[in-house]
Amino acid sequence: MELVCAAPAPVLVPVVGGGAFPVHRVYCVGRNYAEHAQEMGHTGREPPFFFLKPADTVVFVADGQTGEIDYPTLTTNFHHEIELVVAIGVGGSGIRAADALRHFYGYAIGLDMTRRDLQNDMKKQGRPWCIGKAFEQSAPIGPIHPLARTGELTRGPITLQVDGQLKQKGDLSDLIWNVAETIEHLSAAWVLQPGDLIYTGTPAGVGAVTRGQVMEGRIEGLGELRVRVR
Ligand code: MN
Repeated sequence: MELVCAAPAPVLVPVVGGGAFPVHRVYCVGRNYAEHAQEMGHTGREPPFFFLKPADTVVFVADGQTGEIDYPTLTTNFHHEIELVVAIGVGGSGIRAADALRHFYGYAIGLDMTRRDLQNDMKKQGRPWCIGKAFEQSAPIGPIHPLARTGELTRGPITLQVDGQLKQKGDLSDLIWNVAETIEHLSAAWVLQPGDLIYTGTPAGVGAVTRGQVMEGRIEGLGELRVRVR
């Protein structure tokens, strides 16, 4: 059948060692490091919760390059959130944490860019977060490292610098819900598909960036992700 308008281009994230990962959905976990939960005004181990970004919000940045994203419309408080991203290679629903690893394809470094002022307005009014979270270029990502190369990542520093100044610092071992537990919860609510990405939450130290600033995220074993705000 003939298409009646232009089909969306597939969203592809290159894989270290060759090939490309086709993005299906982008799931994000809210408040998954204790200190960040506290800085957002919460405490304790509340059940994990999720939001989504459309696949075409993903912006790939190659290793050793500085990617660029536009400062978005409507905000005066554009926040960085550095996150470990898990790429799903094998789909499923009702996945138990103990079986989660066989659904992984690999890992990447990602940024869950946020229009914090809009997100906060929506929170106050009990409205959906979409306008604060799911906008163009809001999900920069580095190359995907296959699990076969990295092994399971359960500890190690995750940091973000802005113009060379350390802003966010955490350790993967500080995740409130680890990746396997996250997959258990997520796959109870949605059917995971090959091509899904999961942004697993950000450590403390989120803050605003302005035009011209360069963010540099690092996770041990995954290199770095460098993005300039245009
Ligand atoms: Mn986040």
